Amino acid sequence: MRVSAIVLSLAAGAVLAQPLATGPAVRYDGYKVVRVTIDTEEQLQSVLALGADQWTHEVRPGVPTDFMVAPDKLDALDATGLPYEIVNEDVQRAVDAENLRLRDGGVGRAWFDDFKNLTQINDYLDTLAAANPGLATVVDLGDSLQGRSIRGLRIANDAVGNSSCEPSILFNACQHAREWISPMVAMYAAEHLLAEYSTNPDIQSLIDHAEILIVPISNPDGYDYTWTNNRYWRKNRRANGGGSFGVDINRNWGYGWGNNNGSSGDPNSDVYRGTAPFSEPEIQRLRDWTLSRPNFAGDVDLHSYGQYVLWAWGYTSQPTSEAATFSSVGNQMKQAIKAVHNRTYTAGQCYTTLYPVSGGSIDWFWGDPGVINYTIELRGNDFVLPASEIIPNCEEVFPALVYYAEWSLDHYGPVSDFNHDGAVNTLDVLAFLNAWTIKDSSADINGDGTVNTLDVTAFLNAWTSGC
Ligand SMILES: [Zn+2]
Repeated sequence: MRVSAIVLSLAAGAVLAQPLATGPAVRYDGYKVVRVTIDTEEQLQSVLALGADQWTHEVRPGVPTDFMVAPDKLDALDATGLPYEIVNEDVQRAVDAENLRLRDGGVGRAWFDDFKNLTQINDYLDTLAAANPGLATVVDLGDSLQGRSIRGLRIANDAVGNSSCEPSILFNACQHAREWISPMVAMYAAEHLLAEYSTNPDIQSLIDHAEILIVPISNPDGYDYTWTNNRYWRKNRRANGGGSFGVDINRNWGYGWGNNNGSSGDPNSDVYRGTAPFSEPEIQRLRDWTLSRPNFAGDVDLHSYGQYVLWAWGYTSQPTSEAATFSSVGNQMKQAIKAVHNRTYTAGQCYTTLYPVSGGSIDWFWGDPGVINYTIELRGNDFVLPASEIIPNCEEVFPALVYYAEWSLDHYGPVSDFNHDGAVNTLDVLAFLNAWTIKDSSADINGDGTVNTLDVTAFLNAWTSGC
């Protein structure tokens, strides 16, 4: 019955909403996950030289790093003399179990009970937009390399405030195709921002006074490929020549691009940075939307796995000029996560906390538009995650995203809302005049370093327009 139903739907030209029954064609039978303690760069290179796929990112003395290795490479790993333990004897088992489960429709009945493919995610974006007129619209940012739409849900109430100057905040996920938990967390944020609009005054104020764009799948070609061909594919599907495919689009952003410490010039590498900054259309779409906004205010980029809250810089160990702000907001996000299910995420600068990343979005959003922004590494010990982890992971990260968005609105929001109460009214004029009288730096509206009558003019102009 199942086979004939598939044949019939193909004959009718329908697109299959579920993965093919055979599962991803590339198999990892007998592949192991080994936990290796690495102390030096040379030792890391000796493991990578075996073709090992580095799964956990952190590499530092005394902290074990997980790699996936082919079964015929174990002897060579033994020969390195590095101590290791096997933590997964057969990677394919979990992939097969996941595929069998999803082929039969997944566990549970609710949308967040199991992982969703590209078609299902796009359909749910449409559903959320249709159910929330006036608050949500689907935005098509443009096509991927292979012509798939990169879509987001824009959440804003344009009937309140002056939308021409409201802060714009981006939440994007799944730059790395195999990190399936990340679009689920992004979709949960979309659903819950909308669901709580009428009951949670803080979320209502956020949606009234900011614009939030949620892009669950930044890399649709790669994501689709993980469902059909190779569950552990990470990059996009660029043909690099010589039989090599894929650019790591989170090594292709145009700030700090090209550094061999944190990316690779080898097209076969999983962290291949591409031939030039912004050579890849997927991140051109995210960049162009960002630069098109009159008041772009922030980004959170969702990845897996390892439970981290990370900030710039990724390409250098030097701290940014705003290191204290990054740390303060990032640690608040960490606390917001912990308060839900008591999970501890590690917060810190990307380069020194996790590892060097060159050409990552984390550096571009600070280096170019100049906004405080974060990368969150979600739950897991594998990119294949039990479905039972989805909802708890979504639940714990959502308050951190809300906290971040509220902070960004407060920090980058309209000058006219001087007292930050979410409304523009005469109380803001009084608050401004009080600050101006005592020459408080917050009254330096035109940013020229002094508080004088020019700032009164600048404030009243902003107040009149609601900007
Ligand atoms: Zn990632």
